[in-house]
Parts: sequence; C-alpha cells; structure tokens
Amino acid sequence: MTSIKIHDKEFEPYLKDEDIQQRIKEVAKQISEDYAGKRPLFVAVLNGSFMFAADLFKYLEIEAEICFIKLSSYKGTQSTGKVITTIGLDDDLFGRDVILVEDIVDTGKTLHNFLPRLIHQQPKSLRLATLLHKPEATVHPLQLDYVGFVIPNKFVVGYGLDYDGLGRNLKEIYQLVS
Ligand code: 5GP
Repeated sequence: MTSIKIHDKEFEPYLKDEDIQQRIKEVAKQISEDYAGKRPLFVAVLNGSFMFAADLFKYLEIEAEICFIKLSSYKGTQSTGKVITTIGLDDDLFGRDVILVEDIVDTGKTLHNFLPRLIHQQPKSLRLATLLHKPEATVHPLQLDYVGFVIPNKFVVGYGLDYDGLGRNLKEIYQLVS
C-alpha cells in the first residue's frame, strides 16, 4: 500500500483490507452470539456505512433484517443548532431489537441528535455498532456497543468513507498526512 492523493490532499495507508475484514468477522460473531435466537433489525446510516453494513451483514450467523437511512444536517434559519432530516426510515421499530450501524463516530453529534427519534419509536432494545471511533473527538459521549477500531483524531478515507465525494471505493482505510 502506498500513499494516495485525493483532490488536493495526501493520504497514507492506515488499515489493511484483510485486517478490516478480520475485525468485522469478529464483530459479526459477537453480534451473532449476543442475538442468538433473535432477529435483529440493522439500521445502517448512509452514505458512509454502506460497505461496513454489507460486510457485517454477510458475516452474521443469525437471521437478521436490514434497512438503510440517510441523515442530512443543515443549519436552520432560526434555530440554535443543526436540524437532522431522516430519509428512508420506513420500517416500524416498535418492539424490535435494533442495531444502528455507523461508519464512524467522531464528535457523536449526529447520533446524539438522531437517537431520540429512534427511541421515540420504542424499539425493544437499541445498540450501536460503528466501524471506527475517535474517542479524542467526543463532544457527546455515547455508549458504543460494537466498535471495529478505535482510531486517533485524524481524518480518514476509504472503505465507504469519502473526502469530498471521493475515496469511498477504496478497500483499505487511509489517514490524512498532516
Ligand atoms: P459526528 O457527528 O460523530 O461528529 O460525525 C459523524 C459523521 O462525520 C460520520 O458519519 C462521517 O460522515 C463524518 N466523519 C467524521 N469523521 C470523519 C473522518 O475522519 N473521515 C470521513 N470521511 N468522515 C468523517
């Protein structure tokens, strides 16, 4: 693996394809054990989590369902903060064992803003799975139940994560050279 350039920035190799796959298999095994005899509903957050969600789902050894949602945030004209809009949460979460799937938890703001909407639907249980977690960037602490990799507070791309639209198709994860 060599360094790459995306737009104007240089990125260096950080996590290898086989290490990512190996870790996702472990997380899938853990989830399969924890949810044995149940049929969890995975709610994957687009766009970044599409690869992680697909691989995690493939490695499961239990019955499970999956749906995808998209969160878009923008500054409201009069409100104090960001407004989060949900696209695609068609499934009824009432009474379900829900596992929310994220690509990366950085400040925690996105999930902090969105989780009340999920909880409002009264799932039977709700757990969070994320491929990457940057604890140093935490603003809103969250209980993350399944974490692929804990990483330093540096911008990463690849394996579903983009830099300004590009880099999502990379099999490996790269870190910004600072
Ligand atoms: P949070 O709300 O936890 O700060 O950030 C969540 C979202 O910010 C992620 O779902 C992702 O879209 C984006 N994000 C945060 N850190 C990174 C990063 O290092 N690389 C990329 N590509 N996106 C990031």
